[in-house]
Amino acid sequence: QQVMPETIENQILNVFHHVFKLSDFRHNQWEALIAALHHHDCFILMPTGGGKSLCYQLPAIIDSGVTFVIAPLRSLIFDQKQRLNLLNIPCAALTGNISPEEANEIYRDLYKDIPAYKIVFITPEKISMSDQLNNVLRDLYNRQLLARFVIDECHCVSEWGHDFRRDYSQLGQLRLNYPEINLTLLTATATPRVQQDILQQLNINGNYKLFVQSFNRSNLIYECIPKENTDIALSQIANLIKINYQNQCGIIYCFSRAECDRTAQYLLAHNIHALSYHAGLNDALRQTIHMRWINNECQVICATVAFGMGIDKNNVRFVIHFSIPQSIEGYYQESGRAGRDGEIANCHLFFCYDDYIRMKRLILNDDESKSSKQTKQVRINNINCVYDYCLNNVTCRRTQLLEYFGEIFSSSECKGTMSTECDNCRQDFRTSSLDCTRISIEILKLLSDLNQTNSTLSYIIDILRGVNNKTIRDAGHHRLRAFNLCQQLTRLDVERLISRLITDGYVKQEFIEQQSSVTAYLRPGTNAIQLTSLSSQRSGSTTKIHIEL
Ligand code: ADP
Repeated sequence: QQVMPETIENQILNVFHHVFKLSDFRHNQWEALIAALHHHDCFILMPTGGGKSLCYQLPAIIDSGVTFVIAPLRSLIFDQKQRLNLLNIPCAALTGNISPEEANEIYRDLYKDIPAYKIVFITPEKISMSDQLNNVLRDLYNRQLLARFVIDECHCVSEWGHDFRRDYSQLGQLRLNYPEINLTLLTATATPRVQQDILQQLNINGNYKLFVQSFNRSNLIYECIPKENTDIALSQIANLIKINYQNQCGIIYCFSRAECDRTAQYLLAHNIHALSYHAGLNDALRQTIHMRWINNECQVICATVAFGMGIDKNNVRFVIHFSIPQSIEGYYQESGRAGRDGEIANCHLFFCYDDYIRMKRLILNDDESKSSKQTKQVRINNINCVYDYCLNNVTCRRTQLLEYFGEIFSSSECKGTMSTECDNCRQDFRTSSLDCTRISIEILKLLSDLNQTNSTLSYIIDILRGVNNKTIRDAGHHRLRAFNLCQQLTRLDVERLISRLITDGYVKQEFIEQQSSVTAYLRPGTNAIQLTSLSSQRSGSTTKIHIEL
C-alpha cells in the first residue's frame, strides 16, 4: 500500500497539538503558517500578545534545516529561548555577551550533518560583524539547510518607525546574499508607510503575504490626565494604585533613570512595592528584578522604555505613563503590555507642556551621529502627534490610536461599552465646539508684537486670560489687544489651543538653556503667515483651525 505523504495541514495540526499543546488558532495564525510553509515571504502584524512567535516557531519545527531569528534585544531572546526550552525545541542564541568558546560550540553544532538546532537567535550586529556566522550561514545555505530568516520587531528597520536601529539597516543583505531563503517579518507596530519602507529596505518586492488584524485592544481603557506638577502626579499615582489596584501589578514608564528611581522610592515610602528598572543597572540586578516581576514578587515596575520589549507577563492590570511617550506607535506598544490575558486593564497617560518641551529638547540636542536631520524631524513629528493625542479631549482614543495604523475605527464601538470606554467617550461631549480661528490669529499677532520679549507659554496664557499681575502691568502688557481675550476659557483650554498651534507649526518654540533647566520662548512659527493670510481672504465658512474645547 502506498504511503500518502503527509499534507502540510496535517503536519501543522500535529505539531500545534503535540509540541505546543494548544487547541485553537488565534486570528491569522493558521493562514500565516500555511503561507510560510508554502514558501512565501510573510509580513505579520499582530498586536503584542497576539501570538506572532508561533508563526515562525511551528514552521521551524516542520522545516528541515535551521531557522535564524534576528531579534533586537538580549532580554527578548532570553525569554523566547526559555520558552522553547520548555517545549523541548532545540535552539541556541548567538548574542554579544556569550564567550568565544560558547559561540564556537554553537558553530560546531551547526556544521554537523544534521545541525543540532531548529532555531538560532541572533542579534542584528552579529550578521554584519561576525565572519564566523556568515561562514556558517553560507555553509548551511549550500547544503540546503537554511530554512528561513525571521526578523522580529522588524519596524526597527525603518527610519520612519518609532524605534529605528542602525544595526537593522544591514538586513537588506539577507535577500541579496540568500535569494531563495524566505523571510518572515514580525511586528506589533507599523503604519502602512512604515510597512512599505520595511519591505523596500529588506528588498522584498511584490510577492509576499501580509497578515494584518485589527489593532483595537478592546479590553484596554485609555485615559490622558493633565499633570499639574511632579509631586501632585506622584501622589495621584500612589492613590490610584492603592484604591484601584490592590495586589495587582503594573508598569510605570518614566522619562529618565533618575525619574524611575525617584518614583519607585516615593511609592515604596507609601507602602507600594515598587522597583526601578532601567539600562543603568547591571545585568545581574536586571535579571533579578525581571524574575521578581515575572513571579509576582513585585507590584510595580518603574521603568524606562528599555523595559518590556518581548516580556511576556499576562496579568499587568495597569500601565501608567508618568511622562509622555516618544511616539504613538511607542505608546501603543507600551500601553499594550497591559491586559495581555484579555481581562480589563487601564492605561493612564500623564502629560504636561513641560514634559513635551523636555522631550523635544532632548531630540533637538541629540548630537549622536545616528540622528540624521531626517530622523530628528521624524522624531519631532512623532512627539507632536503624541502631544496632540494627549490634548485632544474630544475624539475617541481608539479612533485616534488606530488611525495611526491606517485603521478606521468608529467611536460607536467604544462609546457605551460601559466597562472599557475611553476617557473621551466617557465624558459628555460638549455639543458645541469653538471655532478658534480668530483667537488663533490674535495669538499670532500677540506673539509678533512680543517678538522682542522672551515670553513663555505660561506668560502668554496670563495675558490672554487677563491676569492682572505686577509683571504684566510693569511691562504694559495689560494694554495689549489680546489682553483678556480668552477670559471665557480655562487655563488648560488656552494651553491646549496654543499647544495645538505649536504642533501645527503656527507657533514655534525657541529653547534657551539656563543652568540645568530649559525654557521655551514662543515666537510666530513658519506656518503663521499662512494662517493670517488665510483669514484675510476668508470667505465666511473657511475655518483653518477649529479646535473643540
Ligand atoms: P507576540 O505576538 O507578542 O509575540 P507571543 O507569540 O509571545 O505574542 O504569544 C503570546 C502568548 O500567547 C504566549 O504565551 C503564547 O504561548 C500564547 N499563544 C500563542 N498562540 C496561542 C494559541 N493559538 N492559543 C493559546 N495561546 C497561544
